[in-house]
Amino acid sequence: MDRKRAVSRVELVSWRETSCLCGRGQVTRHVASTDYVFGGADVTFSLDCAECSKLWRFQHKSFTLRSSEVEATALYAKWNAACDAIRAVSPRIVDAHFTTLGKISKKAEMAELTRLGLNPGTYRSYLDARHTKSPGQIAFLHDDCEGVFAIADAEASTLRELVRIRDELRRGWEAAGKRVVRRGLPSS
Ligand SMILES: [Zn+2]
Repeated sequence: MDRKRAVSRVELVSWRETSCLCGRGQVTRHVASTDYVFGGADVTFSLDCAECSKLWRFQHKSFTLRSSEVEATALYAKWNAACDAIRAVSPRIVDAHFTTLGKISKKAEMAELTRLGLNPGTYRSYLDARHTKSPGQIAFLHDDCEGVFAIADAEASTLRELVRIRDELRRGWEAAGKRVVRRGLPSS
């Protein structure tokens, strides 16, 4: 038996898959195969063209025009920040509400969260979480902030505005995503 072959089980082979979009470079296929019959092969592609790489992002056998995704990427980041802001405000509102209720039992806290539609799970898990967290940090918070608005008082308008901005950003991000320009591999 060829000893050398038995040791080097992974074989790396690369070849030109097709031309790039401008035609001056190429898309290269890289295959890492083992000599096991059922080992399969790991296939990846790379874009080898300095010009196309400047304009296009290449991933999973498709090209994305970098300039066309700037808007969607920026809106996505803003949408994410708006989601974070809501996630920061909502627990504070819940905790402020519990402060107004005064000292109540854990059982009563759980009952109140259930009444508000913010029930986080079982009473057992609530008690466990309550060792280190406040009711607002444990509460199940809905995307539409249902249940939180009812107790938001002075912060209701702030929360409503945050939700409006977040939803508007999401619509903007989705619309911008449809304007992203993508291309598949050229046929030759
Ligand atoms: Zn090119």
